[in-house]
Amino acid sequence: MKGSSNSVLIIGGGAAGCAAAAELSRRGVPSTIVEAADRLGGLAGSHCCKSTERCERCDACLPMDVRRDALNAADVTVMTSSLVVDARMDDGLVVSISGPGGREEARFGSVIVAIGAMPFDPALDPRLGYGSVPGVLSSLEVDRGVRDGTFIIPDGARMAVVLCVGSRDVGRGAPYCSKVCCKYGYQLARHLQTARPGLDVTFLYMDWRPLDGDLDALSRWEASGASVIRSRPAEIVERNGGPVVRYAAPADDVREQAFDLVMLTVGLLPSPGNDRLSTLLGVPLDDLGFFPTAHGRVLAAGCCTGPKGIDESVKEGIAAAGRAMSIAEGE
Ligand code: SF4
Ligand code: SF4
Repeated sequence: MKGSSNSVLIIGGGAAGCAAAAELSRRGVPSTIVEAADRLGGLAGSHCCKSTERCERCDACLPMDVRRDALNAADVTVMTSSLVVDARMDDGLVVSISGPGGREEARFGSVIVAIGAMPFDPALDPRLGYGSVPGVLSSLEVDRGVRDGTFIIPDGARMAVVLCVGSRDVGRGAPYCSKVCCKYGYQLARHLQTARPGLDVTFLYMDWRPLDGDLDALSRWEASGASVIRSRPAEIVERNGGPVVRYAAPADDVREQAFDLVMLTVGLLPSPGNDRLSTLLGVPLDDLGFFPTAHGRVLAAGCCTGPKGIDESVKEGIAAAGRAMSIAEGE
């Protein structure tokens, strides 16, 4: 059997999991990262840099930094394309891990769950025209297209950025604010504008909740020429082969506006893995389906405990490593 009662199992190799592994290594504690994907980095590890004329501190390079730290750290075992499929308490935690080489058992003193969250699938809200109206894209598609160089915008294109997609919506998405998407949608739009100065952006937001607390960012942006409108789009329909957004602006009737592109800025839902691991590890989830940060020998960090930014996920990973140390020392 692999592992030992003073080593730590980390389920999920995104920003929080990699930060936890690197911190444990710094403290001389061995760990094993079990990651379902074929590489470490997680969802945020595939985000593009959102610099304008300067670094905008979007933190998209942070997952790659902690990934490198984890891969170079001593006593960190990495198992990719692998899943924890069984677990039991027996003088610590004994788990079965299924991977490309088959199934094996291993013993650990504690576990850090760091499996992240799941982006909302905008196809679940048919009013938004995702998958049916040409030119309607999710923010993740735009982000990946920018990173890969496949996102081509025609000169002078008109682009709507729609916020709160899948969040603050009891009927179709999550009832809560996903915290990350105001800053994310704003920074991605500004990055696109910088890269393509003719891009005409209309920013349709319901509430402005930037992670970094920059409450004046939208007024400054508007003063520089962006169209910033407080509203919640009701519907996106096809007309003349492109998207038309219907939205109600404050003190206005319903407006209709044609665009070449619409970016749906999606929020974060609990990963389906939360339910599976909750049952496997015997840890109850909260009312929204997220993990508590500590339950006996089971610790959790990053977006599996609730939506949060990349920087906060890294800090939670480091904090969970500290708590795992305390468990190993019998405190
Ligand atoms: S990825 Fe974000 S934090 Fe990193 S250099 Fe680019 S803008 Fe700055
Ligand atoms: S962070 Fe902004 S875009 Fe995201 S759900 Fe909250 S208010 Fe909406």
